[in-house]
Amino acid sequence: MRPTPADHRPLRLLAILCAALLLGGCDRAADEPTWQETLLVFGTLVDITVHGGDEATFRRAVREVEDDLGYLHEALHAWQPGSLGRTNLLLATGGTFTAPPSVLPLVEQSRQLAEQSDHLFNPAIGQLIALWGFHGETPSTPPDEAAIAALLEQTPRMDQIVIDGIRLRATNPAVQLDLGAIAKGYAVDRALELLHDHGLVHAIVNAGGDLRASGQRGDRPWRIGIRDPRGEGMLAVVETRGNEALFTSGDYERYFEHDGVRYHHILDPRSGRPARGLTSVTVLHDDGTVADAASTALFVAGPEAWPAIAAQLGVDHVMVIDEAGAIQLTPAMAERVRFEQRQQPRIVPLP
Ligand code: AMP
Ligand code: MG
Repeated sequence: MRPTPADHRPLRLLAILCAALLLGGCDRAADEPTWQETLLVFGTLVDITVHGGDEATFRRAVREVEDDLGYLHEALHAWQPGSLGRTNLLLATGGTFTAPPSVLPLVEQSRQLAEQSDHLFNPAIGQLIALWGFHGETPSTPPDEAAIAALLEQTPRMDQIVIDGIRLRATNPAVQLDLGAIAKGYAVDRALELLHDHGLVHAIVNAGGDLRASGQRGDRPWRIGIRDPRGEGMLAVVETRGNEALFTSGDYERYFEHDGVRYHHILDPRSGRPARGLTSVTVLHDDGTVADAASTALFVAGPEAWPAIAAQLGVDHVMVIDEAGAIQLTPAMAERVRFEQRQQPRIVPLP
């Protein structure tokens, strides 16, 4: 079950414990301390790990991250009242309105990323996501065909939002925003920037396995595990360089099974149904917002089309796993990933 904003009682598991996916122990590296704190915010556990700096600065920065991510979560929530909820009400009227400042930058960036992904990343399909029941408790049955077909016919897309400065208007009343595929990337970017503003430049912000890292841990790079989509453990390890985000979209994150079929939360806007063909897509990129949207877009693109869409989105470090468990990697990603077991991935150059 996803926590709602009302459950935002901070969960302060202090220092000591290592993040689930942050590998390499909690010892003191190069004589500087490593600080860690876990927050329950943005609907998930967010681990913040910093190497160097003093404890007071770290704790102050973490409190600010907690405030900011709590605010953003409420503002960008797709189905709780908040700025995005108000935006959706106003989009449905067809009238022009002033966009809430918390929503506007993401609408602008989402419009561009939707365009670059041939609208496979399409946060305008909020109604379809709601129809499938992925707003709220995980559902147990698929919606009926006629209801899916009726929504598909309305073809909501991001280019039906007219942006004029800070004013917005939808030319299609069926446009309803769900920023679930991009908001976490945006939030993680903002959190890492905030740590940097406090001088904490060797840091990781890890939101349930999706993360952004900068600097390193003493004389060693940060080592990140990539989860095996059909197993318990790690499939591979990546060492980050400089300032990088690692985001994964998977069919194991939110799903239900009905009559032996898995229905997951990443919907193909062309079919109105869960995207088929892949089980997991991981993107390494210098911007978390782009990495988040791209991992969702490439998941929808599927086993054949993902390289072309990756090239359009300007992401060149990609790993995808298909339903048979076969792994495909871009040449750039192949140089960065170390597999835990013997794997024979296929290297796929981008067009
Ligand atoms: P992610 O885990 O980043 O791939 O995001 C998945 C979430 O994005 C879902 O839970 C939905 O809220 C939303 N979503 C599902 N399908 C799409 C899509 N094709 N384009 C944009 N957002 C989507
Ligand atoms: Mg995403």
